[in-house]
Order: sequence, then structure tokens, then C-alpha cells
Amino acid sequence: MAGETIHKGGAARVAPNLADYEEARSRFSWQQARQALAGLPGGRGLNIAYEAVDRHVGPAHHGDRIALRCIARDDTVRTVTYAELARRTARFANVLRSLGVGRGDRVFTLLGRCPELYTAVLGTLKNTSVLCPLFSAFGTDPVEQRLRLGDARVLVTTAVLYRRKVMGRRSSLPSLEHVLIVGPGADELPGTFSYDTMLAAASDRFHIPPTMPEDMALLHFTSGTTGAPKGAVHVHDAVVAHRSTAAYALDLHPDDVYWCTADPGWVTGMSYGVIAPLVLGATLVSDEGEFDTHRWYRILSEQRVNVWYTAPTALRMLMRSSPRGAGHRLPDTYDLSALRFVASVGEPLNPEAVLWGRDVLGLPIHDNWWQTETGCIMIANFAACDIRPGSMGRPLPGVEAAVLERGENGRARITGGRVTRVRRPGAEGELALRPGWPSMFRGYLNDEARYRAAFAGGWYLTGDLVRQDEDGWFWFVGRADDVIKSAGHLIGPFEVESALMEHWAVAEAGVIGRPDPIAGDVVKAFVSLRPGIEPTGSLQRELLAFARRRLGPAVAPREIVFDQHLPKTRSGKVMRRLLRARELGLPTGDLSTLEETA
Ligand code: ATP
Ligand code: MG
Repeated sequence: MAGETIHKGGAARVAPNLADYEEARSRFSWQQARQALAGLPGGRGLNIAYEAVDRHVGPAHHGDRIALRCIARDDTVRTVTYAELARRTARFANVLRSLGVGRGDRVFTLLGRCPELYTAVLGTLKNTSVLCPLFSAFGTDPVEQRLRLGDARVLVTTAVLYRRKVMGRRSSLPSLEHVLIVGPGADELPGTFSYDTMLAAASDRFHIPPTMPEDMALLHFTSGTTGAPKGAVHVHDAVVAHRSTAAYALDLHPDDVYWCTADPGWVTGMSYGVIAPLVLGATLVSDEGEFDTHRWYRILSEQRVNVWYTAPTALRMLMRSSPRGAGHRLPDTYDLSALRFVASVGEPLNPEAVLWGRDVLGLPIHDNWWQTETGCIMIANFAACDIRPGSMGRPLPGVEAAVLERGENGRARITGGRVTRVRRPGAEGELALRPGWPSMFRGYLNDEARYRAAFAGGWYLTGDLVRQDEDGWFWFVGRADDVIKSAGHLIGPFEVESALMEHWAVAEAGVIGRPDPIAGDVVKAFVSLRPGIEPTGSLQRELLAFARRRLGPAVAPREIVFDQHLPKTRSGKVMRRLLRARELGLPTGDLSTLEETA
């Protein structure tokens, strides 16, 4: 866990107005952060959409600034100003009102990253209805499952997606009253309305009703990496945390051009792909296309992106095409001079990827950690601070984090409702957070028992295992469910995966425990290779030896197999539970978020 530190002292490309870490933490209070927001006029409360859009519009403001630049698959770009977004979202809110849809009613979106998606999201929030975004690549079953669980009253989608994924199931969704079709096709689809027609007929003035900070605003399903997805409930007050954490952890400023590659169907794509950048008055870039190395570099360069928030899986794919130390570096052929700050989330970021950023992109990558449940970034390689490659960073201002002693099942040991903090630096335990930050989830939908079980001794228990070094940096060990117990050692899959990734031939790795009569579990690695590399027996032996040198015999994999299609969630995480289930011939469990591979 030691390794090298990337010093940021004098890092001119990090905006200078971020205070020193300790100072920022000691000065911070959520109450003060709340004051940075405008609040609804007349003291009528706090509404996310007002903060994101309307507040920026008006004579003294900058309504003519670009809020959105949406790049379609065919590369056409549609731009929307803040003033236009204010009018469109008002129209959408009026449409909902005209349908009798109001406070607390659930509005679902099933759309690609088109301007209409952003209109629907923010218009729903203006109307004080609850927004639940679905990832448009979900199949029929996951869509139906979530519409049912979330009690959808309205669905906004396209004719193609409706035909493919919802129409055949409509009769089993009695609460789904209204389907709005974006673009052509509503005429031929019974039981639907045309979004465009209704929007055009609606007024572009809307008076946002009083909104309490505790009013439910968003419903987000988790990624389903470790089990069936859970519906996390978030409230309007979350916007306080979205705003301040984006400034601290993403170094995001009002004039920045900003690109978050996560789909708004996931919490990252909503908190930091819609809400935070608009609240801060930035210009948001979104791309409807799929991942493609050249396309992504082109977008960074043509859009002159300043701040970029992405995920380890995408970074690993970029690394595959231009490894460190290679003569020809793809990023050198693009003008990335506007890029100032790069951050990553969703999975552990291997140290190799941080260094790749520094050496190949010219900027180190800032890992940060959070969950659907936390609603905002909790632990980060803070913009102005040194980076320890492979570490998640340190708690943001307003966040208190602790490591709790573990019990038998790998989770925090709870005795008589109490937990014990790990005091020794470097010792592993469950990561816990002190509840009370504004974007904290307020419940799992229809699952009060599970929600309660997530708290003990005054802490929220995250289910992730970490260690904290003596200087306060947190290091991810693994999800409690994924940790391997081998011959008395506890092994985090991430450590093994990261070591394998340092080998020139390896693109990605997924590591699990395979039951063994003597050791309990032995480590087994599934490895995908860089393009053009042959999966030979001698490479296999070489990798085994390489891992043993790096990790020692107790931790190194006993077995390595090649697999070019590691199973991943649609949000880009390696599904170790599926690798393990396949290995053991066990039931595969809920696969609604499994990405289909070609
Ligand atoms: P489910 O809870 O349904 O199993 P999930 O936990 O993957 O799915 P998310 O809320 O999308 O759903 O992901 C949060 C989890 O992702 C964290 O608890 C952690 O395990 C992992 N994670 C996120 N960021 C990081 C990071 N920077 N380093 C390591 N792990 C991370
Ligand atoms: Mg989780």
C-alpha cells in the first residue's frame, strides 16, 4: 500500500481557490454549504431543479450560457442554453400537472442521453414529482421489474424503446398511467402521448410549488454488483452535497466545460452528470454514442473539455490502446490542452491507471469513492492534495469516516448494538460513515428492514472493506462479499487484480476465491489480455510467477485462466459474484444489470 505519491504542490492546472485539505475540512459545515444555494424565492423551500436551472436565468445572471451540449450517435450536436432549459423544463412540469401528476408521483425515464432526457429529469423535479432514471440499454425484464418496484405513474421514452421493452408488459403495470413518446411514433402506439406535441402546447412559465428539503426527489437503483438491485430514496436536500462535493472532489467551476461519461440511469450520471454541474453553472457535455477510443479522445479535444469524470473500466480500455512506455501514444495525436482535471469512480482504480494518466494523458487521475446510497462523493483524492496511487483518498469536508473491526462474516462486528473502531493504522475493517450529510439515502424502497440493518452504533455501514494509513488516506480492500479467506489470510481481490494489471500482457482481471479442502479458499484469477496477445500456456506460467513475485505465495493466485469477456454490470463493474457462481456451478442470482457481451 505504500508506493509513490504524486505531489500536487504548484500543480498549476488545479484551480488555486481550493483551500488546503485540513483547512477546508475545519472550516466546513453543511449549514454553510446550504447557504451557497439560493432557495426558492419567498422562502418556499429548496428544489433541485430551481438550483440547477432557474436560478441562473434572469437579467443579472447568465441565461444565455450553454447548459448542455448533447452529441448524438451521428455526431450532430444539439446545444441548449440555461434560459432555454428553464423554459423547456417549465413546459414539462406543466405537462405533468395537466395530467394530474403531482408531488411524490413517480416519473420514469427510459431514454438515451438526448436533450429531452434532461428536460424530463429537471421538469419532474420542478413539479415536485419523483424522478427515477432507467438506463436505456436495460432489457425488458429489468425495465419491468423497476417500473413495478418503483410504482411508475409516468414513463418518458421513445417509440423504439417502448415497443421493444415496455409495450408487451403494459398490462402487468397497472399503475403506469401515462407514456410520453419522444420523437415520432406516438400516433401508432395506443395508450401513449406525443411528448413533443404536449410540450409545444404547454406554457413555458411554471411556478415551482413549495418544496421541503426532505421531499423525495430521486429514486436510484444500485448497480446490482453483489445481489439484486436496491432502490435508494433521495431528497431535494441532496443538492447541497452535490454542489459542494463537485467543487472539492472534481474541481468544478462555473465556466468549466465538463464531461461525465456515466449514464444518468446510474447515480453518478445523475448527481454529477446532471445536477452538480448545472447547479455550479458549468457547460455539460453528453455523448449518446458508445465507448470508442478515438471517439472519446475526439470529444475531449473538440469540445475542449476542462473537467472529465469517468470510470476505471473506460480508463483501462484507453490504456489497452496506449500503454505506458509504448512509443506511439494515441492521446498525443489529439489536442487535450483544455483538460485540467480527471476523476474516476465506480470501482477501485488500479495504481497503474493513475500513473498512466500522469504519463500518457499528462494528468494524474483522481480516484474517489461513494455509493448509490451516499448520493455524493464521500472519499476522494482531493483536487488540491497529493495523490497516493491506488488509494481512494481522504474524506471530503463534512464527511466523517471510520474503519470498524470485523466479525466472522467479514462485516463490522456488532455486539449489543455497538461497534468498535479499528485504531491501528493499516488494519482492515468495514468502512463506516457518520450519518447526517444531505444526500444520504433516506431508505431502500419497500425494504425498511434492510435499511435499518445498514446502521449500527451511530454509523452507516457501507459493506466495503478498507484500511486507513497513518496519514489518513483510505485504501480499498474489497466488498465484504468478495473478500477471500485463504489459509488464515484475508485477501482483497483488488490487490491481486492490480498486481496482475502491472504485467504488460494484461488488460483486466477479476479475482475470486475457489473453495479448497486445505486452504479454505484459494485465489483464482480470470484475466483478459491486451489486443493481439496470444493466450498461451507459457504466458499463463509467466503470469503465475509474476504474481507470486509481486504478492508472495500466500496471496498470489493459484490458478489463472484467460477470459476475454469478463462479466460486468452495465455500470462497468466486474461481477465477481457471477465469476464465482459459474466456477462453483451455483445459481447465478439476479442478472438484470449484467452487460451483454458480443
Ligand atoms: P449493489 O449494491 O447492488 O451490489 P453496487 O454496490 O455496485 O451494487 P453502486 O452503488 O453503483 O452499486 O456502487 C457502489 C460501490 O462501488 C461501492 O460500495 C464500492 O464497492 C464500489 N466503488 C465505488 N467507487 C469505488 C472506488 N473509488 N474504489 C473502490 N470501490 C468503489
Ligand atoms: Mg452497493
